[in-house]
Amino acid sequence: MTVPANEIVVRSPIDGSEIGRVPATALTEMPQIIARSKAAFESWRQVPAPRRGELVRLLGEELRRDKETLAALVTAEAGKIVSEGLGEVQEMIDICDFAVGLSRQLYGLTIASERPGHRMMETWHPAGPCAVISAFNFPVAVWSWNAALALVCGDPVIWKPSEKTPLTALATMRIVERALARFGAEAPAGLLQCVIGGAELGEALVDSHDVPVVSATGSTRMGRIVGPRVAARFGRSLLELGGNNAMIVTPSADLDLAVRAIVFAAVGTAGQRCTTLRRLIVHPSIRADLLQRLRKAYASLPIGDPRRAGVLIGPLIDAAAAERMQAAITRARGEGGVVFGGARRTAEVPAGGHYVEPAIVEMPAQTATVREETFAPILYVLGYESLSEAIALQNDVPQGLSSCIFTRDLREAETFLSAAGSDCGIANVNIGPSGAEIGGAFGGEKETGGGRESGSDSWKAYMRRQTATVNYSDKLPLAQGVSFEI
Ligand code: NAD
Repeated sequence: MTVPANEIVVRSPIDGSEIGRVPATALTEMPQIIARSKAAFESWRQVPAPRRGELVRLLGEELRRDKETLAALVTAEAGKIVSEGLGEVQEMIDICDFAVGLSRQLYGLTIASERPGHRMMETWHPAGPCAVISAFNFPVAVWSWNAALALVCGDPVIWKPSEKTPLTALATMRIVERALARFGAEAPAGLLQCVIGGAELGEALVDSHDVPVVSATGSTRMGRIVGPRVAARFGRSLLELGGNNAMIVTPSADLDLAVRAIVFAAVGTAGQRCTTLRRLIVHPSIRADLLQRLRKAYASLPIGDPRRAGVLIGPLIDAAAAERMQAAITRARGEGGVVFGGARRTAEVPAGGHYVEPAIVEMPAQTATVREETFAPILYVLGYESLSEAIALQNDVPQGLSSCIFTRDLREAETFLSAAGSDCGIANVNIGPSGAEIGGAFGGEKETGGGRESGSDSWKAYMRRQTATVNYSDKLPLAQGVSFEI
């Protein structure tokens, strides 16, 4: 059957079957959509922040009600196992809770003025319409990290989800509609919008002067385009891009703990998390033991239909992802890598999906292939002698998202966390690199883009800062003692 040009056919990565068709947003509609967001900003910015928080509270309630249904759709559309689908929706609920509290804590500063009878302060105001461009692998959570904060900060949101996962986005918007209906008329039309389609829709947001904040999550390739284009119009971008995350395993590490952390972080979500563990930097004194335990664990990992109880590794998102994995393994072999696992799986998995065995690849050095992010379950193993060598190896990649060390040695742990330690946005001790909590700021350095979203003071990215000074005296003293008598 031919598909009309304005329709996107959605296929499940589980078995390649068609699970829906959704109308795509026409590029010509974008100016109107942006204008609606701009108009919504005029009134939303004047609604008191705690009241804006009430809308987010209702959204959290509605998400709780539909947690299982939305999670099942995440599984169907992104291929996550049931528990990870549920975890993704839980993350949406958690950030709503966080944002509700935040709505009463959007604080500024008062600063001592050098002039008598003056008060100086710093106030945070809503920034304006915020674009959220999201990736396929967290099809709904990334939107909520941004939207929950943007809403309490007073910003309308236009969401451009991945073209690979429009169904979960539209389902989320249905949940949003329920929260909006309960909230009432104070929420203006166009406060929360969603556009369905590819990069061209994202680019319309990226280039618009009426969208002061662009939060873009995806590949470094995408960020290289989006970052400079937003900067060219002096907009603010919040980039959450690729990672190449490492774990250093030291001689004193608790190996039982390390093995469990490695397996979850390296193969969970079939290696398709930005925080997936991709590099293992191991001391030679424990290397043989650790690798033997890992191979044993890998050999028995249940791979298959992510809806089935007990399955831990679902499909890759599409054929291209499976091909990129095979190409990376071939290149790594050419660079001297010794490969365990990594084959395509066709037996006992649904036909039409792209299932793979996770790979462990022992490398002689940190080669060009190791330094790249391949979005699949490949774990490269490297060796080290001194901690400084291990930290240098861990930092010697273009990306800077997440990192960790397994050690029981306080000196090693603190060195890893020090200014001379990990150069990543996230650094953990005796915890794998993935599975962050929403309370902390999330994001990374270097080619990961430098953005921070979710917890801590990430909310400041959605607001503009104003320094205001009030003169309550009957004189007009000038700063720096400047005299200007007229
Ligand atoms: P992708 O870069 O292919 O697409 C991400 C989004 O960007 C999609 O919505 C896409 O339509 C849009 N896009 C692509 N080109 C664009 C352009 N020129 N202008 C505007 N928008 C554009 O990424 P993906 O394959 O969906 O996701 C996987 C990647 O995302 C991995 O590299 C992963 O590490 C990264 N990721 C990072 C984080 C993080 O927080 N750091 C989180 C999730 C995923």
